[in-house]
Amino acid sequence: MELKNKRLLQTETFIDNKFSKSTDKSAFEVTNPANGKVICTVANATEKDTYRAISAANKAFINWSTTSVLERSKLLRRWYELIVENKEDLAFILTTEQGKPLGEALGEINYAASFVEWFAEECKRTYGETIPSSNNAKRLKTIKQPIGVVAAITPWNFPTAMITRKVAPAIAAGCTVVLKPAEDTPLSALALAKLALEAGIPKGVLNILPTTNYKEIGEILTTHPDIAKVSFTGSTAVGRLLMRQSATTLKKLSLELGGNAPCIIFDDAEMDNAVKGAMATKYRNAGQTCVCANRILVQKSIYSKFMKKYAEAVEALKVGDGTKKNITIGPLINQEAIDKVNNLLKDATEKGAKILLGGGKHKAGKLFFQPTIITHCSSKMQLSKEEIFGPVSSIFIFETEEEAIEMANDTEYGLAAYFFSTNINRIIRVSEQLQYGIIGINDGIISTAEAPFGGIKQSGFGKEGSFYGIEEYQITKYICTGNL
Ligand code: ADP
Repeated sequence: MELKNKRLLQTETFIDNKFSKSTDKSAFEVTNPANGKVICTVANATEKDTYRAISAANKAFINWSTTSVLERSKLLRRWYELIVENKEDLAFILTTEQGKPLGEALGEINYAASFVEWFAEECKRTYGETIPSSNNAKRLKTIKQPIGVVAAITPWNFPTAMITRKVAPAIAAGCTVVLKPAEDTPLSALALAKLALEAGIPKGVLNILPTTNYKEIGEILTTHPDIAKVSFTGSTAVGRLLMRQSATTLKKLSLELGGNAPCIIFDDAEMDNAVKGAMATKYRNAGQTCVCANRILVQKSIYSKFMKKYAEAVEALKVGDGTKKNITIGPLINQEAIDKVNNLLKDATEKGAKILLGGGKHKAGKLFFQPTIITHCSSKMQLSKEEIFGPVSSIFIFETEEEAIEMANDTEYGLAAYFFSTNINRIIRVSEQLQYGIIGINDGIISTAEAPFGGIKQSGFGKEGSFYGIEEYQITKYICTGNL
């Protein structure tokens, strides 16, 4: 791999600030989804490594939890600066193992760094309260304290940002972390570890377990008595499993799970902006995000006008290896992802949907899929219920605002929803009626470090980013001084 800073390519487990082979010396291959080539092999962490990592984190918690916020802030700030200094290399690593175009990867690194910067500041402001007492002989207050050792499990679609969004607030709060990154994208995680080490983050504060033994390790992380908190981003099915497993030791949980985002185009939308916004939310990361528009709902009166412009924009997308210039759609992550998209399209066309554009594999390679538009979609189709996680726009038609809201809310998920309208009354009405944790109005890209990200219903619970993001890693302790 062509990197300016070759030290960033780390291929071993990271425990107690040391990179080392796994205890049984096993390793697994990391491949480039754009060409199927093996990038390198990475140490395959075992159950024994997991116990070592938990023990290191537990030991480190004693000191780290009592460091001053200023000290934690300075170390996080240094980590942030190193991420920014190395952003081109980090983006290259990300594209090579994950596939998204370099421009998007660079965007993700900046986004990932912004969480480290934000929480380096935010930890200074996690205030407690003094509470007016009903009894004059008592004084009441609350303080915020770190919850303990945190287990974080992250997905492959944002291999860097989903890590910093958990690790930065955890460390900022005074917690220590054992992180299990996704098996498809361990290199981005290990590069972050290298920079944390160089930033001076003390040993045991951040530990990383690349592994294909995710079930066994996931079970240890969710049942071990020394872990106080589990933060997970991934599928709803795995989230439910981790919650069940965590029940015996009553861990605090944050679950960022699947979505089924509607994107509603009302007849009073500013058309070019609606096309741009819908494109941005649908096709980023080749449609592989939990906040990607899964259903595009278009008002009947503007259907032809919108579809003409939208199809032109989709046709202009450039599919190929993300490291090459001008590419806007990279490969899907693996064959399973391709099979899933094909099956959803088959089910939809059998139930009356029509392919307007694309619809199959792209000639760029085995894991590339054509940017696709499928129309005449209905709630009978599987793609109206499940995340497509591919570059496919499924188009639904509605006539009235009430119908649009009903269709939009007709899902077990509740992560992100978008709509486009220039009518202020409608904007207020609709944003209040959509049953989602995150709403984008006239905008397709809304996540940012200073705002709370998180779902409701079967999309999980807990917030990441913003001032709420650090509370997930804290306890609120009430202190009463009596008999004054
Ligand atoms: P996706 O379908 O997007 O890969 P998953 O929920 O399967 O989503 O994966 C997200 C993360 O959860 C990854 O790090 C993966 O290794 C991990 N994971 C998957 N299954 C389990 C499990 N049984 N226990 C713990 N972690 C798991």
